[in-house]
Amino acid sequence: MRTPTPHSPLIEIHVSPPLETNAYLVADPKRREALAIDPSLVGRELLDRCNKQGWALKTVVLTHGHIDHTHDAAFLVRETGAGLLAHCQTAPLLSDPMLCGAAWLGMNLEPCELSREIADGDMIEVGDFSMKVLHTPGPSPGCVCLLGDGYAFTGDLLFAGGVGRWDFPGGDQEVLIKSLRRVAREYPDETRLYSGHGPATTMDQEKRTNPFLVEWGISEN
Ligand SMILES: [Zn+2]
Repeated sequence: MRTPTPHSPLIEIHVSPPLETNAYLVADPKRREALAIDPSLVGRELLDRCNKQGWALKTVVLTHGHIDHTHDAAFLVRETGAGLLAHCQTAPLLSDPMLCGAAWLGMNLEPCELSREIADGDMIEVGDFSMKVLHTPGPSPGCVCLLGDGYAFTGDLLFAGGVGRWDFPGGDQEVLIKSLRRVAREYPDETRLYSGHGPATTMDQEKRTNPFLVEWGISEN
């Protein structure tokens, strides 16, 4: 018997300057609904894309609070009325230019407030699709990953060939390793990973070749 093809939404990557941050649109074209993950500095581009496709932008999710990921969240929420979701430990970064890195990147921070705090195990919906929240601190205390059916968004926790930095305010290497261990254990090997910077990869590929996962013994999980 053949395994049915996973039921996947449409996933678009929009790369944002100045740190090549990945913003994502996750859409259910049938229901004409979209969700944005980490709007970065491409809020206008995401909005134009949704308008062109006739998608209603219902939700903006922040994987963590660093300014290169959150910069246009306030703009998108204001323009669309979308709900703004992030972990409660990300909330303080959304109004503090020191904590979110805006001060040292020379970026302007437009403060914004969450409409819903998300916690480990919560489900986030877009149209007929849903993703499960995993709280994965390490790079920042409020980091989350989102797991859908065969795909996941890993923010700044895990990249193709790399892991998140733990030397920013609130970062912690021990905690990061614990979160990576959990993701490696809970995400099926074939899961396609979309991270906060760089190309997409798979859990299996990272377990086999990511030097950090190999070095820290995480691949053996
Ligand atoms: Zn980042």
